[in-house]
Amino acid sequence: MTVSPAPVTTKAIRPRLLLGPGPSPVSDRILEAISRPTVGHLDPQFLAILDDVSDRLRHLFGTANPTTYAVSGTGSAGMEAALVNVLEPGDEIIIGVNGYFGLRLADMARRMGAEVIEVPAEWGGIVDSDRLVEVHRSNPGARALALVHAETSTGARQPLDEIGDYMRDQETLFILDAVTALGGIPVEVDAHAVDICYAGTQKCVGAPPGLAPITFSSRAIERIRTRDSPVASWYLDVSLISSYLGSERRYHHTAPINSFYGLHEALTVIEEEGLEECFDRHERVGGLLQAELADRGFTPFTDPAHRLPQLNAVRLPEGREEAPPRAALLRDHGIEVGGGLGPAKGSVWRIGLMGQGARESVVERLLTAIDDVLRSPA
Ligand code: PLP
Repeated sequence: MTVSPAPVTTKAIRPRLLLGPGPSPVSDRILEAISRPTVGHLDPQFLAILDDVSDRLRHLFGTANPTTYAVSGTGSAGMEAALVNVLEPGDEIIIGVNGYFGLRLADMARRMGAEVIEVPAEWGGIVDSDRLVEVHRSNPGARALALVHAETSTGARQPLDEIGDYMRDQETLFILDAVTALGGIPVEVDAHAVDICYAGTQKCVGAPPGLAPITFSSRAIERIRTRDSPVASWYLDVSLISSYLGSERRYHHTAPINSFYGLHEALTVIEEEGLEECFDRHERVGGLLQAELADRGFTPFTDPAHRLPQLNAVRLPEGREEAPPRAALLRDHGIEVGGGLGPAKGSVWRIGLMGQGARESVVERLLTAIDDVLRSPA
């Protein structure tokens, strides 16, 4: 007798404790918000949510930019929107590359026909600000300069004070990836003279993947207005989307209504806690994990002077392979942590304590599980 396989159904999905590089844990409160009635994208009830999301994002991004919204799509859609709106074939762009997401920026820009000038740095380190300035001085006509604020592949936090001060006086637009930064560490778009900053919902913001918060300065909008050629992507063209976001409310594409409910609720949760308190919690809980892992023989992959609290890239104790205990964490404890990428592949774990994952109780549960899986011989 043949036994028919169990039907595949979302009802069978078991929860996991998401402590990898993303997505991060999504609370019941946000899942409930997502399940509220789907209404039309021109329904006044939805438009009020859409506008409020923009207001709350301005607060989170540290900006007064009127053009602040959430792109339909994940963080990579935000990255593509940032680049495609300002680049034209033949434009130069300077990109700091100290990990996987700097490489992705460079790959996307090349596909758009741009001349990419990479400023490489060691994985785990930061891109040197003096070097960036030097490269810009040699290429002052570059259309844009792009950096990753929180490099998820390495756990490095890129400092922005010096380069922000320098970029303020340049024609070149300053693009910043804040996918892992937003909601976890301060993102200061206006204070750092950033022209385009994009993020994701599925990291420290605490909503599921599917939207990419983004903000454009008036300089960036002016650049888009005076392009020679149309933006190569119809879907991501901010000048078209703006006619839906503004008072005209002209249809562009159907907004992912329920994803906006989730993002709105996640931003409300952050506002209720308070931004500073939210950053302090990430800092405190990340520091706790780092200290506890050091006691257990883990060593940082990241330059200790530039470690992010919300994404911890660590080498396992001497003689330990990374994949078997990582698989055991998922199988025996329902906990997901990430493996390494690029030069960190095979020897590193990436542990995210992002959004609702940044809790002392979560660290305790993780450490109990790590002690258990590392008890078995290497
Ligand atoms: N940029 C950074 C720094 C990221 O960490 C990620 C995702 O991990 C992305 C961009 C791309 O985001 P997504 O995977 O949501 O498309």
